[in-house]
Amino acid sequence: MKVKEAHRWDGMEETEGRVVRYYRHPQHEGEAICHICEKPLHEHGFIDAPNTVFDGGQPVCPGSWIVELQDGRFFAQREEVFYLRSDELCVGC
Ligand SMILES: [Zn+2]
Repeated sequence: MKVKEAHRWDGMEETEGRVVRYYRHPQHEGEAICHICEKPLHEHGFIDAPNTVFDGGQPVCPGSWIVELQDGRFFAQREEVFYLRSDELCVGC
């Protein structure tokens, strides 16, 4: 996938065109702990379904990178696995 740009989401606010909004999920309590970063889910963001490459939307751990693709969609990549090689992006590796 071609990357347009990426920026880091610090969890402080809904920023950068408000692609990332605050996390909420009808089946998850905000105090529940994220199995990925082990922080409470209420400290997370969320990218809605039509804006992301993931079906059903994607939770965003604090400190993740928000990657915008050339096709206008977004996804979040945790900081420790985020990298770019030229302008090609490896998703999920
Ligand atoms: Zn998390």
